[in-house]
Amino acid sequence: MSTSTESPGAKGPEFQAEQAVDWTDFRDHLSTAERSGKRRWLYPKRVQGRFYRARTYVSWMLLAVLFAGPLIRIHGNPLLMFNLVERRFAVLGQIFWPHDMVVFAVALLLGLTSIIIFTTAFGRLWCGWTCPQTLLMEMVFRKLECAIEGDSVQQRALAAAPWSARKLLTKGVKHAIFFGLSFVIANTLLSYIIGSEQLLGIIRDDPRRHLTGLAFMLLFTLLFYAIFARFREQACIFICPYGRFQSTVIDENTLVVAYDHPRGERRGAWRHRQTADARRAAGLGDCVNCRQCVAVCPTGIDIRDGTQMECVNCTACIDACDAVMDRLGRPRGLIRYASLNSIERGEPVRFTPRLGAYLGLLAGLAGLLTWLVFSRSGLETTLLRAPGALFYQTADGKIANLYTVKLVNRTTRDIAVQFKLANAVGDLQVMGGGGLIVPKQDLATTSVLIDLPPSALQGPTTRLRVRVYADGQMVETLRTMFIGPEHEEHDD
Ligand code: SF4
Ligand code: SF4
Repeated sequence: MSTSTESPGAKGPEFQAEQAVDWTDFRDHLSTAERSGKRRWLYPKRVQGRFYRARTYVSWMLLAVLFAGPLIRIHGNPLLMFNLVERRFAVLGQIFWPHDMVVFAVALLLGLTSIIIFTTAFGRLWCGWTCPQTLLMEMVFRKLECAIEGDSVQQRALAAAPWSARKLLTKGVKHAIFFGLSFVIANTLLSYIIGSEQLLGIIRDDPRRHLTGLAFMLLFTLLFYAIFARFREQACIFICPYGRFQSTVIDENTLVVAYDHPRGERRGAWRHRQTADARRAAGLGDCVNCRQCVAVCPTGIDIRDGTQMECVNCTACIDACDAVMDRLGRPRGLIRYASLNSIERGEPVRFTPRLGAYLGLLAGLAGLLTWLVFSRSGLETTLLRAPGALFYQTADGKIANLYTVKLVNRTTRDIAVQFKLANAVGDLQVMGGGGLIVPKQDLATTSVLIDLPPSALQGPTTRLRVRVYADGQMVETLRTMFIGPEHEEHDD
């Protein structure tokens, strides 16, 4: 399938139909591959229009959040952080640890449900407007490429030209900038993973002490460079599972970028001074077959063939077609956000029972997640018998058990913690001596030794309750088992 790169204006007032295009075989081959299987490199034409302007503003805002995210602090914590190494996560300044598994599980379900709802109602709005891949590719790398190499016609000409000093310089500058930007993106990703302080530490410190960190920095840089300089739309078409998944949830009521085929067909060239009535009389619709919608498409498809997996709903074809309609004096919206039902039957976008069910589920999960996050206590303690440790008898005849205590301090202050036995007479010692202080927004793990006189044992196992005090205030009572010998004589 060939792609026109000329604007309607470039051919004068009459829009010409392209030759030698087979309109029926689009499902038989990829938009980005030649029939031989070789990749067809795309040179999408620069687009202008209301949607592109709106997307530009949205992208500025989202990219600012993306790059500033690891640096923005709330109560001293990052806005967003996914520190896989230390298993420490931050969302809107709230710190989460693997202990918050239930919160993660509900958040994951909430995320999945939101994706399903959004896709059911609004198609791939995410892909076109908010996906970092699309934003960076179309709003950063593509714009830079156009600024350096020119629009699609110049890019094609440069690619076809033999190597010369000018071509070498132009390509060299472009790829150097792409590599530098990839380095910035890679560092941003790393600061989401290990935290911005740690990343700055790696950058400032002796490189020999951070070979692993530097290796990851280089690896991510190369990965992003490969994606944005070479792989491009292939990431959306082949790698991202969302495009494939969408076909299972969209239906005839889903809002997608769609071509109004009853209005547009039969497509045909526009003759100078031809009126809409004259076109209709000739059996022609509003589509003048100028292929501007194809020329601007970053995935190389023809939206007039219908909704396709490759369409990332970027709206470029809407802007391109609106510009053509403006010039012809025809109403905008031959390509627009619409549902199949609204195009074929003129039905307005409807609120379907399926959407209602999804929304109900979403509201329930959002409520559960809010409750889980805000009902988390400031200090969370788990007390477990030390793995593999049995009881032993002390010199004064008592029976001793060793426990491991894990504490999570979610507050923004250090907490002094004490433990007391609630239902038995015995001793409880925190190993290591001194007071146990759990630093703010941090974890602490320690060992606790409990010894009981044989008379306090209720059998081979004794149920114990341990009170936890935070800064002198009792906050929690923990339950655990105490193991003793089989043959001891007991009170009961
Ligand atoms: S849909 Fe619009 S932009 Fe696309 S070929 Fe027809 S008139 Fe041109
Ligand atoms: S068909 Fe239109 S909305 Fe879809 S990817 Fe191409 S230009 Fe973007």
